[in-house]
Amino acid sequence: MKVLKFGGTSVGTAERIKKVASLIMGRGCNLVVLSAMSGTTNTLVSVSGCLYGNDSRSANDIIDGLRRKYAAIIDELYATDESKHKAVGAIEDCFATITAHFNTPLDERGEKRILAQGELMSTALMYYYLRESGCNVAMIPALEYMRVDANEEPDTLYIKSNLTRLIDENKGADLYLTQGYICLNARGEVDNLRRGGSDYTASLAGCAINAEEVEIWTDIDGMHNNDPRFVPNTRPVNELHFDEAAELAYFGAKILHPTCILPARENNLPVRLLNTMQPEAKGTLIYNTPKTHTIKAVAAKDNITAIKIKSGRMLLAHGFMRKVFEIFDNYRTSVDMVATSEVGVSVTVDNHRYLENIVDDLSKLGDVTVDRDMVIICVVGDLEWQNCGFESRALDALRDVPVRMISYGGSNFNISFLVKKEDKVRALNQLSRHLFG
Ligand code: ADP
Ligand code: ASP
Ligand code: MG
Repeated sequence: MKVLKFGGTSVGTAERIKKVASLIMGRGCNLVVLSAMSGTTNTLVSVSGCLYGNDSRSANDIIDGLRRKYAAIIDELYATDESKHKAVGAIEDCFATITAHFNTPLDERGEKRILAQGELMSTALMYYYLRESGCNVAMIPALEYMRVDANEEPDTLYIKSNLTRLIDENKGADLYLTQGYICLNARGEVDNLRRGGSDYTASLAGCAINAEEVEIWTDIDGMHNNDPRFVPNTRPVNELHFDEAAELAYFGAKILHPTCILPARENNLPVRLLNTMQPEAKGTLIYNTPKTHTIKAVAAKDNITAIKIKSGRMLLAHGFMRKVFEIFDNYRTSVDMVATSEVGVSVTVDNHRYLENIVDDLSKLGDVTVDRDMVIICVVGDLEWQNCGFESRALDALRDVPVRMISYGGSNFNISFLVKKEDKVRALNQLSRHLFG
């Protein structure tokens, strides 16, 4: 069995839902994971924003617009009144769950329930379309098997036992269908795997059922060698090692959710990135592919803050680093890049929630400088330290770009540069020209 995940644009219109149905029917009994239709989760985020601001009138207007959109899709999607009727019922249940929050102050729990409706709606639409098309599809509700623990980590044993049970209970189905993104938390409340998390659902589910492969179907023909939103003429990379893909996803390649590759790597589960609009394209295979001596791709992660702690006392002082990192740990803030010298250390963070507290505490250890609005540019490939020359090629590409930090040697797969936000696009383009011709 394979896991086939389709993202928001792949199911974004009635026509695309039909296209996905044609791609998944007759390919064997696989588990299909769907995102919400494109735009829906963003709309639900706006609705929650209005409700947090006690503006239920605007929330109502937004929901009316969304209702009309789904009504038009239902009209176009189904041939029979019976299917239309069933789909309308399922979608109305979702809207009722959303509007039930309109008359009381919204809390985080309510927000999560609202956000969950996107995937519940897209899977309901697909379910009735597949049924109408003669496919004996079984719905496997994500809220009955996907769960995170008190540390917000996937509860893998729970996921495995419940997903395999649900699949067993539906033996004989032609296909299994499930929601990406949504889950329960340790308190049993509706929660989610963070924005873009349907990819994570796919790899967690793939590991749970020992799938043969996970296919991530999206709107582009695989992982490109640079960010196509900012660089022209990027090309797909045919093969990536798990570690390379993990670095790229973590450092900003939006095509993959940052945590999606980790479970796949642990379970040696191949992940293939494919294009719904161009199904014949080869895409990208992410696996234990032998490394070749090449730089494969570049990615950028926005909204980074650099923090420098300078201390005269650091000289020969053991325990300084421990104190620095303890402060980040106390505020549950993870550090991405690190650069050290004998008199100080620079680190980067992308979570600004406790920045003020962190800076206050660090100030007790030395002089602290903060640079906001920075971007990590990450160059990924087989960068094993004994391979000569790749560092100089990357550095050469950035020779006229001010670089605030450089980090290399943490893994064999990446070299990272910290630059100002306004230099990001220029840096990405220069790296593409220099590294990929
Ligand atoms: P989905 O909705 O299917 O999950 P996403 O929007 O999350 O799709 O991811 C696909 C998008 O990722 C592409 O349309 C592309 O603009 C963007 N992207 C960013 N970096 C890369 C990259 N290196 N390779 C391919 N796509 C990328
Ligand atoms: N629908 C969710 C989002 O837009 C999850 C996903 O698409 O992967 O973030
Ligand atoms: Mg995505």
